[in-house]
Amino acid sequence: MEASSSEDMIIWFEEVAKNAGKVQMEILKKILEINHGVEYLEKWFGDIDVHKMDAEALQSLYTSMVPLASHADLEPYIQRIADGETSPLLTKQPITTLSLSSGTTEGRQKYVPFTSHSSKTTLQMFKLAAAYRSRVYPTKEGGKILEFIYGSKQFKTKGGLSAGTATTHYFASQEFKLKQQQTKSFTCSPEQVITSGDYKQSTYCHFLLGLFYSPDVEFITSTFAYCIVQALTLFEEYWIDLCNDLSQGTLSPRITLPGIRRSVLDLIKPNTHLATWVRAKCEELEGSDWYGLIPKLWPNCKYVYSIMTGSMQPYMEKLKHYAGDHLPLVSADYGSTESWIGVNMDPSCAPQNVTFTVVPAFSYFEFIPLHRQHHKPCDAVVAGGGGDDYLEDDPVPLSKVKIGQQYEIVLTTFTGLYRYRLGDVVEVSGFYKGTPKLNFLCRRKLILTVNIDKNTEQDLQLAVQKGSQPLIKSRAELVDFTSHANIVNQPGHYVVYWEIKGVVNEDVLDQCCKEMDAAFVDHGYVVSRKTNSIGPLELCIVERGTFKKIMEYFIGNGATMSQFKTPRCTTNQVLLKILNLYTIKRFRSTAYQ
Ligand code: AMP
Repeated sequence: MEASSSEDMIIWFEEVAKNAGKVQMEILKKILEINHGVEYLEKWFGDIDVHKMDAEALQSLYTSMVPLASHADLEPYIQRIADGETSPLLTKQPITTLSLSSGTTEGRQKYVPFTSHSSKTTLQMFKLAAAYRSRVYPTKEGGKILEFIYGSKQFKTKGGLSAGTATTHYFASQEFKLKQQQTKSFTCSPEQVITSGDYKQSTYCHFLLGLFYSPDVEFITSTFAYCIVQALTLFEEYWIDLCNDLSQGTLSPRITLPGIRRSVLDLIKPNTHLATWVRAKCEELEGSDWYGLIPKLWPNCKYVYSIMTGSMQPYMEKLKHYAGDHLPLVSADYGSTESWIGVNMDPSCAPQNVTFTVVPAFSYFEFIPLHRQHHKPCDAVVAGGGGDDYLEDDPVPLSKVKIGQQYEIVLTTFTGLYRYRLGDVVEVSGFYKGTPKLNFLCRRKLILTVNIDKNTEQDLQLAVQKGSQPLIKSRAELVDFTSHANIVNQPGHYVVYWEIKGVVNEDVLDQCCKEMDAAFVDHGYVVSRKTNSIGPLELCIVERGTFKKIMEYFIGNGATMSQFKTPRCTTNQVLLKILNLYTIKRFRSTAYQ
C-alpha cells in the first residue's frame, strides 16, 4: 500500500473496509507465507504447504490448529531472541528490535518484537487518521504541531538487540523522519528534545518552542490525554521562566542536557514582544485557574488530539478545563505496541462516544465473544478466585462479529505473534462497509476482587466518578486515583486512593466514600458487602504530587511518558508503599444497607 495523499489514503481504506473479510484472509495468508517454517508454528503447522492453500481454507486450518496464546506462551521465544538467538523462532526475518508493551497497565513490562513493518503501519495509521481529521478540521500548509511526545533511552538486551518502547523506536525510524518531511505540519521540537529521556526537560522545551512558534501551532497532541494534562500542570510552574527565555532567547538552567540545549538554542531567538504577550495572558490565566489556557496561548490551534478513551477518561474534565468551551477535543486512534487496530473516522464525535473502525490490512484479527457473568446473579459464586467474570465462546473472524456483543481481541501479526490475546475488551457498535466499529471498554485483567466480586477498570471508573460528585460543590477536583483489594485482614475490603486539588471538608469526603461504596453495582460485591464478607470501603486521600511520584517511579523503570497509564488497580508493593506513605486522611464507609 503506497497511498500518499490524504484522499488516496481514504480511498485505499474504503476499499479494504469494503472487502474486509477477504482482506483479512489474504493478510493471514501473507503472514503465514512470510513466516512459514518458524519454530513457534512448526509443531502445529510444520507439514502444511501454506503457499499452495487457498486463503479461506488456510484461515480455518490455522484457527483450528494453532492455539490461542498469551504473552506467557511467547515469552520463552522472545527471551531467546533477546539473548541473541538468530534462528527463525517467530519470524523468518531476524528481529533486531524489541518493544516494551503495557508495563504500566499490567504492572510488569513485556517485550514484543518490533520490525520495520511496525513503523510502516504507524506511519500509515498516522496518515489515515490525519486524512479524516483534515476533512473536518483543515490545517494550514506548513503549520506546526505542539506534540508532547517522549522517547526513552533505547538499551541493549543480553544478545545485543535494541530494546525500548515502540514509540521510541518509531521516533528513531526512517518512517518518522519521512513523516516529518512529507506531511504538511511539523513538530515544534527537534529530535533531541523528543528523545532526551528526561521528561521534565523535554516538556519545558516542548513549551518553549511551542510558544516561540505559537501563531503557527495548528493543533496540540500527545499519545495519551494524561500526558497533555501532566504537561499543562507543569506549565503552571514553568511559565515565568519560559517568558524570560522567550524574551531573551536563552534557555533556563533547568535544562542541563547538552544535546537538548544546543538543539533548542539553535532554533530560538529573543522575542520581547511575544514574551510580553505570553506574560500578560499567563497573568490573566492564573487568576482563572488556567481555564482556557490552550486557546489563549495558541490562538490558531484548531483542536487537541490524543487518546481520551479507556483509562484516559478520568483526565477529560481537566483537559476540557484547559481547552475552554470551544476548542474541539479529538479522540485519537486505537492501537497497541503489538499492532494498530482501529481509526477514528469521525473526529467531530465527542470523545466519550468515539468508535474505532478496524483497519483490516494491519494484522489478522479474531474476536473472542465475552459474556459478563454478574448479569446472571446465580452464577456469581461459581466465578470465585483469581480469574475474571467473563464466560467465553470460540473466537470468530472479523467478518462474523455481531453488533452489541463484547469481545476480547486476538492478534496474528507480521511481527511474529500468533493468535495472541491482547487482553482488551471492546464492544462492536456497528460496521463501516465490511469492517467493525469498536467501542473500547477496558483491559480485561484489571480487576478489583476480594472474593466473588469482580470489578473491571470501567466499573471502578464509574464508581469513582459517582463517588467524586460531592467534590464539585466544594470546587475541588479529583486529580488521579488507583485502588487495591486489601485482603490482609478479614474481611477483605477495597481501598481507593484519591489525589485531590482543592480544600475539602472531612464530612464531604466521608460522603464521597459512602457514595463510592454504593456505586459498585457488581452483584458479587453487593452480596458480599451485605453479608459483610467484604468490609466497608476505605478511601485514602494522598498528598498532592503522589501520583507524579508514581509516574516517576514507572519512568525510572523504563516506561516513557508517551506510554504511561496510571494503574487503576495495583498489588505492586512499591506503589502501595508510596501510596500509604503519602496518605494524609482515611475514611471508611459504613455497614451496607
Ligand atoms: P501499550 O502497548 O503499552 O502501548 O498500550 C496499549 C494499550 O493501551 C491497549 O492495549 C489499550 O488497552 C490501550 N489503548 C490504546 N489505544 C487506546 C484508545 N484509543 N482508547 C483506549 N485505550 C487505548
